Amino acid sequence: MMVFVERTYHIWTIGCQMNEADSRKVAAQLEALGYAPARHAEEASLVVLNTCVVRQQAEDRAVRRLHPLKALKRKKPGTVIALMGCMVSPRELPELKQRFPWVDVFAPPSDTAPLLDHVEAAHGKTRRAERDAIQDGGPVLPVSQQARAVTAYVPVVLGCSHGCTFCVIPGRRGRERSRPPEEILREARRLADQGVREITLLGQIVDRYGLDLDGKPDLAGLLEQISAIPEVLRIRFLTSHPNWLTDRLLDAVARLPKVCPYIEVPFQSGNDEILARMKRGYTADDYRRLVGRIREKIPDAAVLTDIIVGFPGETEAQFMDSYRLLDELRLDVAHVAQYSVRPGTVAARTMDDDVPPEEKERRWQMLENRQTEIQAEKNATLLGRTVEVLAEERAKNGRWRGRTPQNKLVFFEGDGDWLGREASVTLDWTGPFTLIGHCA
Ligand code: SF4
Repeated sequence: MMVFVERTYHIWTIGCQMNEADSRKVAAQLEALGYAPARHAEEASLVVLNTCVVRQQAEDRAVRRLHPLKALKRKKPGTVIALMGCMVSPRELPELKQRFPWVDVFAPPSDTAPLLDHVEAAHGKTRRAERDAIQDGGPVLPVSQQARAVTAYVPVVLGCSHGCTFCVIPGRRGRERSRPPEEILREARRLADQGVREITLLGQIVDRYGLDLDGKPDLAGLLEQISAIPEVLRIRFLTSHPNWLTDRLLDAVARLPKVCPYIEVPFQSGNDEILARMKRGYTADDYRRLVGRIREKIPDAAVLTDIIVGFPGETEAQFMDSYRLLDELRLDVAHVAQYSVRPGTVAARTMDDDVPPEEKERRWQMLENRQTEIQAEKNATLLGRTVEVLAEERAKNGRWRGRTPQNKLVFFEGDGDWLGREASVTLDWTGPFTLIGHCA
C-alpha cells in the first residue's frame, strides 16, 4: 500500500536536457525547503509534471499523465499538482487552466518561482532571505542525489531567437538570454564540490553564448574557465548550430583537455530547398564543410546530428538527399524525427503537412536502419582498443556504466569503486549503441 507523506515531492520529466536541468533545480529547491523525494506520484504531497511540446507525441504523453492526477486529487485533495515546462506559455495559460482545473500551479520553462510561491503560501514558512538563497545561491543538486550524481547539466543560454519554421521552442522558452558567466561558474564550482565530475553546458544554440551580454563573453572563454576547476574532469556543450560553430570554439575543444571531443550539431535535412523552407540558414554543402572542419581540427571528434523526415512538401528526391548526406558523412549518432505539426509555428500556419504518416515512417526507418549500420561499423573499429570511461553508476548487472569522451555508452567489469572516476577500459564487444569491456 502506498503511503501519502506530507512534504514529499514526485517529479515526472519528459523532453530535452534543459528540462532535466530544470527538474534537478526544482528538486534541489524543494529539498532545501524540507521536502523529500517520493518514488510514486500517489505517495507525494506535491506532484510536478515537467513537460515538452517539441513533438505531438511528447505533449500527448504529458496529457496522458495529467488525467490520472485528477482522480488522485479527488482522493487526496491536499495533493498539489504542478504543471511545468514547454506546455506552459502565457498564450496557452487560459486554455490550460480550463482544460486541467485540477492543476494548482503553472510554471513556465526554467521558471520555478510560481512553484516556490505556492509552496510558500501553503506552508508560510519560507522567509524572503531563505527563498533568495534557494533561488540564487542555494544547493544545485538535490541532497538525495548528492552522493551519486557524477554528471550535471548547466543551462547557459535560455530560449532561442532563431525561428526555424518547424520549431515551437522560441514561442515557449522565449527569446535568447545568456546567463552571466560568474553565475555559471558559481554553479559549476558548487556542482564540483557536491561530487559532479562532468558538466554539460546547455543552450538551444549554445555557441551563441554571450552575444547578448556586455563585454561579449563567449563559450570558448567559459570552457576555459570551467576547465580550471580541479574536480571537474570533463566538460561538454550542446546543442550547436552549423552557423555559429566558430573556429575559435573548435580550437578551444581541440586545445582544452577536459573539453570532450563531442559535437552535437543538427543538419535537419540534406536538401537545400527544404533547409531554406525550414529557415535553417545554411546549405547541405555548408554542413559538409563544417564536418570537414571539425574532423580536421579535432580528429577524434564524435559528431551527433538531428534529422527531420517528412517536412511539408518533402519529395522522395529531397528525402534521398538527407539519406545520402547521412550515408556520406558517417556521423556517430543521428536522432531522426518524423515531422509533426506544432501549433503556433510558421510551418503550421503556412505549410501543408502533406507527407502521409506511413511515408514518414518509411523514410524514418530507412535513415534509422542505415545509421544503425554505420554506428555498428564505426564502433567495431574500437574492438580491442582501450578507452577512458567516466563511471556514472553501477548497472543492475553489476557492471559499471559510463561514457567515453566521445559520449559512447560503455559497460565494464571492474573491482573497487569507480563511481565518478575515469577507468581505462579495454573493449571486448561492440554494438551500434553500446560497448562492453573490462578494466585494462
Ligand atoms: S535553432 Fe531552430 S530548432 Fe533550434 S531551438 Fe532555435 S528555433 Fe528551434
